[in-house]
Amino acid sequence: MVKADCLGCKGCCDCCKGMGKSIVLDPYDAWRLSRGLGVPFAALIDQYVELSVVDGIILPNLLMKGETEQCGFLNPEGRCQIHNFRPGICRLFPLGRIYEEDGFSYFLQVHECIRPHAKIKVEKWVDIPNYSQYEKFVLDWHTYLNAIQDELLRMTEEEQKMTCIQLLKRFYLMPYETEDFYSEYYGRK
Ligand code: SF4
Ligand code: SF4
Repeated sequence: MVKADCLGCKGCCDCCKGMGKSIVLDPYDAWRLSRGLGVPFAALIDQYVELSVVDGIILPNLLMKGETEQCGFLNPEGRCQIHNFRPGICRLFPLGRIYEEDGFSYFLQVHECIRPHAKIKVEKWVDIPNYSQYEKFVLDWHTYLNAIQDELLRMTEEEQKMTCIQLLKRFYLMPYETEDFYSEYYGRK
């Protein structure tokens, strides 16, 4: 149980604005966005998503746009237009993850969301099907990125560029073809 439930946010959309490049998308997010919107993930780049370098690896993040620096999925009423399939970081907020050697734990970002919170189970708050499988994937993806970062350190600049482009293509740009994300993801590793 965590005190993370913002009780419907009640008109607030603070965490959908001014988030810089911090809402980084993982392959599961890419799969869900693509299926939810009915377009290839690549079609979202530049309009809703941008590519940024995160610890040496090129990864997609939600693009904050305009003077108000807000997410392109936020509607004029300040509500998320893709609530049902919004990315994992949006679902988790105001919780964060601390990665340890063989797992991770959750923590509450107490200064990031100042609304009153009620207690809720993490699984219910994040609200993603097959939660234990999802957590296994989250850890696997984090571990995989760490391994790639180590490999990049031993590469030339040209090899690093090629590796980053291949990773983007393999896990984000190459369309996922089935409902079974996890089989496709593990098949691509
Ligand atoms: S800052 Fe808190 S209350 Fe506001 S939208 Fe984000 S999670 Fe909801
Ligand atoms: S996807 Fe939805 S919840 Fe996430 S930042 Fe954009 S508008 Fe907010």
